[in-house]
Amino acid sequence: MQCFHCGREVRETTHKPKSYKVDYYRLHTGHTELDFLVNPKLDAPPLRYLRLTNPIDILTCVECYARPEIRRRLDDDITGRRALFDVRADGNHFTELAAKG
Ligand SMILES: [Zn+2]
Repeated sequence: MQCFHCGREVRETTHKPKSYKVDYYRLHTGHTELDFLVNPKLDAPPLRYLRLTNPIDILTCVECYARPEIRRRLDDDITGRRALFDVRADGNHFTELAAKG
């Protein structure tokens, strides 16, 4: 498992009797598209909903999670302003992020 942002290997959360160490956070996301369900009620309009297509888990290591610009990207993805992995598909953007590391 690797951090989506910096690419470092992340470890599972380790538990000790009185503490635990979190190494990464998981965001379950993916492309969404508007879809319709037939409304079971007669003469009612179809029900609209957002269907998750290509579900993907994005892992963020604790160091990246502490960086405000990465938190903003995660927020943008959750709220639907901008999808995270569409950003990554843009090669220039990803290079710029990696160079900062
Ligand atoms: Zn990272």
